[in-house]
Amino acid sequence: MFIDNDQIEKLLPMSECIEVMQALFLLNAETDIVNPLRSTMPLHNDSRGVMGVMPAYIRPYEVMGIKVLSIFPDNYKKGLSSHQGIIHLYETRTGQLMTSLDADGITGIRTAAVSALATKHLAIPNAKALCILGSGVQARKHIEAMLEIRDIEKITLWSLNKSSAERLAGDMEQYEGIDFKVCDTVREAAMDADIICTVTAAKKPILENAYLKPHVHINAVGACTATTRELASEIINTSDVYVDNRVSAANEAGELLLPAKENGHDALDFVKADISELLKDSSRYDASRKTVFKSLGIASEDLAAGLLCYTKLKG
Ligand code: NDP
Repeated sequence: MFIDNDQIEKLLPMSECIEVMQALFLLNAETDIVNPLRSTMPLHNDSRGVMGVMPAYIRPYEVMGIKVLSIFPDNYKKGLSSHQGIIHLYETRTGQLMTSLDADGITGIRTAAVSALATKHLAIPNAKALCILGSGVQARKHIEAMLEIRDIEKITLWSLNKSSAERLAGDMEQYEGIDFKVCDTVREAAMDADIICTVTAAKKPILENAYLKPHVHINAVGACTATTRELASEIINTSDVYVDNRVSAANEAGELLLPAKENGHDALDFVKADISELLKDSSRYDASRKTVFKSLGIASEDLAAGLLCYTKLKG
């Protein structure tokens, strides 16, 4: 059985994926989930793209699997997805392959669903203003996910090429009653926001601390390697930081590793909690503080989301 992107869109509504991610992060990370660090293979003398391999095992769900992904960041300029690949799910009684799914569709939805989970606990309850920096697949999915979590009235959009943000705004007709505004600068887009999602392929900071409200919640999603980041150091230095996975953050989050290097300390010193800890003890949440959720994406998220699609299709 192969589950393609069109099927995934129908089988995995955002609201259900948020619930699936919540259940996943409420499992015992130490005894229930094996989530090795992903490995990436650069192409020799070629910076066009990388090949990524992400295995995981979720014991209570009796599923193991792997996401195999090609990441070609400039693909969006050719109308192609920058993340193409396949997720294979195996059952763990006899090790048989259950299904394969299009990684593109699952990645888009599960990433935004985990950001929604973080936002549910870390944004102020009456957040009305959302800012989206970036205009690709993740931008679209993050708009959908944030609207599941808060009663948003205004969405400010910024993209490196203004035409991309205008195209995104033009595609948002289904969200009646929400005011979409395309902005010329990141400052203009971010300055009134209660929630900001950074979903760009930027390698250097695009968001500065001076642009932010003191209570803002930021989902920092775009930069997923040890040498790239979207947020200025001052934001990390002055925020409560949450991560999806501490081991991944310590190895892959330039967002934390680069400011840590400047300060001469450890990246994990910034981290107040991971999502699992946050869900299990919401007293860690302080609405008056600036909060950052650094998302890297882990393979157990792909497996859990894929398993829901498979279970529904199998009936
Ligand atoms: P797309 O290829 O669909 O979109 C890329 C976006 O990045 C475009 O909006 C583009 O803007 C913008 N962009 C490109 N270069 C720059 C730059 N130098 N500065 C600012 N913006 C730039 O990608 P996705 O939406 O699928 O993914 C966005 C990011 O999120 C990627 O970096 C990806 O690796 C990461 N990601 C993270 C995941 C996680 O789990 N944390 C999961 C999946 C993706 P424009 O059109 O205006 O040029």
